[in-house]
Amino acid sequence: MNFQVIEYICNYFNQLKNENKIDYIPRFAVITNGTTITDQIIDMLIKYNFTITISIDGDEFIQNYLRIDKLGHGTFNKINEKYKQLIEKGFPKNSIGLECTYTKAHIDKKISFVDLLNYFHTNFGIDIVHIAPVCIDSNNKLSLSNYQDIIINYTKELVDYSFDTILNEKSIKSSSFVLGILDRLISNTQVPYICPAGLNSVSVAKDGIIRPCFVFSGSDISIGNLQSTMDELKDNLKDFTLKYNEKHLYEKCKECYARNVCSSCLTSYGDNLDEPDFYHGADSMCTIMKTMISSILLRLSEIKSNKENWNTLNEVLNKYSTCHYC
Ligand code: SF4
Repeated sequence: MNFQVIEYICNYFNQLKNENKIDYIPRFAVITNGTTITDQIIDMLIKYNFTITISIDGDEFIQNYLRIDKLGHGTFNKINEKYKQLIEKGFPKNSIGLECTYTKAHIDKKISFVDLLNYFHTNFGIDIVHIAPVCIDSNNKLSLSNYQDIIINYTKELVDYSFDTILNEKSIKSSSFVLGILDRLISNTQVPYICPAGLNSVSVAKDGIIRPCFVFSGSDISIGNLQSTMDELKDNLKDFTLKYNEKHLYEKCKECYARNVCSSCLTSYGDNLDEPDFYHGADSMCTIMKTMISSILLRLSEIKSNKENWNTLNEVLNKYSTCHYC
């Protein structure tokens, strides 16, 4: 990661704001496993109010099994050490998020979504974690395609755990997926798109290619480059959305009860969006979304029938701004 370029860009936005050329400075964020972070970089991240998402897949065993460095060494200790360094240097804990990719390796070790939440709460003090199913070829040994029943059970357990924590502890311990769906249900927000790519994000690669999201890095998907005009970029983004991102484009979405509320990821359809592969992760993503939505609705209807519980739910949710889990 080129932190000098990142700092240059942050400075440039500050300069534009000082010259009244922009109304506000964007929110800066970095997704990293943290292994290259130094004290100097932490100072820069604090100075520009960055949020950091650290990718970590679980405890030492799981992380070292799934994520090794170029020399074949597990990355858990390094990430753990860098996380502590961030906290010791005063990086605000509420600006750190954890992102965890759930795989068949978790299932083999009988690690549920709730187990992961408990682990990250105890060891990192973080209560809201982004846990997403792996997007990978169905023949890969880490694929979840053949384990939908287990995923359903773990998802139901996660939803119950999230609501029980709200009602019993008056705090939130949950996944960003659960909270996102809850937020959309309560605020009556409909989501006609598969994922946010190109809608609230674009990504600029080091060769100047602009893509709807960083997940398409290295792919043929592009909406232009640094020489493109703003109008060209806007037109290309619109074309991308109309061609790939609208739910009504997909037969399976047309009749799905989750279609107004679910939020997925276009990479779960594989590397070639012109020939979507449902078993690349979209099957697990949809299982999780549909199970979450029906389980959340059930719990909401139950809670609504008890005034005290309903008030507690609202009180706790109001304490947490949506930016914690959007
Ligand atoms: S859950 Fe899956 S099938 Fe259902 S609308 Fe969402 S993306 Fe489509």
